[in-house]
Amino acid sequence: MTQQDDSFDVVIAGGGLAGLCQAVAFGVAGLRVALVDRDRPSDLLAEPFDGRSSAIARGSQQVLQGLGAWPLLGGEAQAIRDIRVSDGRPGRPPAPFFLHYAEADLGEGPMGHIVENRALRRALYRRLEALPGVALLAPASVVAAEAGASASRVTLEDGRRLTARLVVAADGKRSRLRAAAGIRVTEWSYRQVGLVATLAHERPHEGLAHEHFLPAGPFAVLPMVDGPAAEHRSSLVWTEDPAIAPALLALDNAAFGRAMERRFGLSLGRLRPIGGRWSYPLGLLLAERFVAPRLALLGEAAHAIHPIAGQGLNLGLRDVAALAEAVVDTVRLGLEPGDAQALERYQRWRRFDTLLLAGVTDTLTRLFSNDIGPLRLARDLGLAAVNRAKPLKRFFMRHAMGVVGELPRLVRGEAL
Ligand SMILES: Cc1cc2nc3c(=O)[nH]c(=O)nc-3n(C[C@H](O)[C@H](O)[C@H](O)COP(=O)(O)OP(=O)(O)OC[C@H]3O[C@@H](n4cnc5c(N)ncnc54)[C@H](O)[C@@H]3O)c2cc1C
Repeated sequence: MTQQDDSFDVVIAGGGLAGLCQAVAFGVAGLRVALVDRDRPSDLLAEPFDGRSSAIARGSQQVLQGLGAWPLLGGEAQAIRDIRVSDGRPGRPPAPFFLHYAEADLGEGPMGHIVENRALRRALYRRLEALPGVALLAPASVVAAEAGASASRVTLEDGRRLTARLVVAADGKRSRLRAAAGIRVTEWSYRQVGLVATLAHERPHEGLAHEHFLPAGPFAVLPMVDGPAAEHRSSLVWTEDPAIAPALLALDNAAFGRAMERRFGLSLGRLRPIGGRWSYPLGLLLAERFVAPRLALLGEAAHAIHPIAGQGLNLGLRDVAALAEAVVDTVRLGLEPGDAQALERYQRWRRFDTLLLAGVTDTLTRLFSNDIGPLRLARDLGLAAVNRAKPLKRFFMRHAMGVVGELPRLVRGEAL
């Protein structure tokens, strides 16, 4: 980059999945964008970096489709055909499921897909390469952004300076730009960690996702596409007490497999962990504002929620679609990308959806992460009641698919 090309419409700090997607969205709309990430792209794509897979809801699939990234996933997205929710205790056979969401209940195709985060990143990088207006600056860290009357001045750790009409803080939960803008957060820890691993199993999963509630929290087994050696695979998200997690992470593969079977049973046959294991502290975080002059918070810089419903990234992708639409509509009117009214529109649009999902996931986490007899009974009766009430079940399904409410064009499957 030379001194002449240090001026952009938008600088995005943070090239996680939210920041990457936002760069593609603005790039598709013809804006000049700098995407800055402190990690090297090859490190972000390497196996040890992130072992998670994400449940991509229908609305998010439409965003990725609209941005031209979904077709680049090739065969790496596994359709979710059924979801079974059950309650249980380790060491006892899982109770019969209380709630069963089936694709056939809606008749609108798969409820979502499971995709490895690594595969999503790969597809988004490939999409970026085809967008000449987007410069990827990595590794590089944003240390400051100062909003001025006509632009923001962005400083990188290596001393480079950029100017931009709009700065997007997509720099994750501990966002430096959010703190520098004086935006406070509400946050608490669930005193749980999410253990993540990939499982190989003897029997095919048939697109069935399991959410099994144990006293320590949810134990999710999510269907993945078969592995390179044609092994049947699922992604494990195992919520545990942080005091117990290190011992579980240190188990050898055979003992880890037995610990999973004790909790999940043998409905998929014998379970065998493959690849690495990861542990993520779980908590809730909500920024009190999503915007400041010439600044928009995106993804986990604005909100982080418990993965109990697999919705964190889906929220982030709805942010991407809303911010893209608010800014692009403004630019089409001849105004500039950092226009205060466009940012206000983005904030209003995203606030309700975020608060609603944060509230729902927080309640579910508290309700299901315990072994208190009367609460167990109440939640099991509740699940069974939802299972019988077809309209209510369809309502929850459509919410989980991210296709309810006042949706941005990209989420509706329309062009930006
Ligand atoms: C166990 C687990 C399972 C999950 N499962 C699901 C799921 O099934 N479905 C779902 O929708 N969501 C899921 N989520 C949530 C989802 O993973 C996150 O919401 C998502 O990854 C957050 O992406 P992000 O881009 O907002 O933030 P991050 O991934 O944190 O990205 C932030 C980026 O900013 C960079 N950065 C930070 N500071 C700077 C700086 N100063 N300068 C430059 N770069 C910087 C970092 O290097 C990083 O690349 C899960 C989360 C967990 C913990």
